[in-house]
Amino acid sequence: ENINLEVFCQNLIDSYQLKYPNFDISCNIEGAEYFKSDPVLLGSIFQNLIDNAYKYSRPDNKILKISIAKSRKQLVFKFSDHGIGIPAKDLTNIFKKFFRVQNEYNQQGSVGLGLAFCKELVKFMNGTISVESVVGKGSEFTIELPYDL
Ligand code: ATP
Ligand code: MG
Repeated sequence: ENINLEVFCQNLIDSYQLKYPNFDISCNIEGAEYFKSDPVLLGSIFQNLIDNAYKYSRPDNKILKISIAKSRKQLVFKFSDHGIGIPAKDLTNIFKKFFRVQNEYNQQGSVGLGLAFCKELVKFMNGTISVESVVGKGSEFTIELPYDL
């Protein structure tokens, strides 16, 4: 399916801002208008990463910047938050099933499957997912998916 990236992102942003008025979420798209992909799978990836950015940020600092850019034959998605960050020693573990960083943000209703699921979906879509993070500053998740048009 040909996804209109602008519409796709704006719909997600609108629904999150309706649910969480204190969530400052924005999206910047460069060099790509449409993306041939499965909107349900792509939507699941986005939702998991957006949910995390909201959950693991302080109440007065819930900011998420999404950027989408074309690079050669890839579409690069970045999700950059100002949240609590992830300790370096946990950066590889967070993509494992049921792993959760020990902190006061561990809430009921979260089980530690979101990122493991994202990783599976990205793999299925022949892409990659990675993360960079600084404790107390924030995290940036990067997803690269093949872009053939
Ligand atoms: P679920 O997604 O199943 O509801 P979860 O959010 O705990 O539960 P994951 O999404 O897999 O599980 O994330 C694993 C862990 O990685 C989280 O428990 C959290 O400690 C850490 N984490 C994930 N995203 C972020 C983020 N943006 N900022 C800080 N920590 C994060
Ligand atoms: Mg999660």
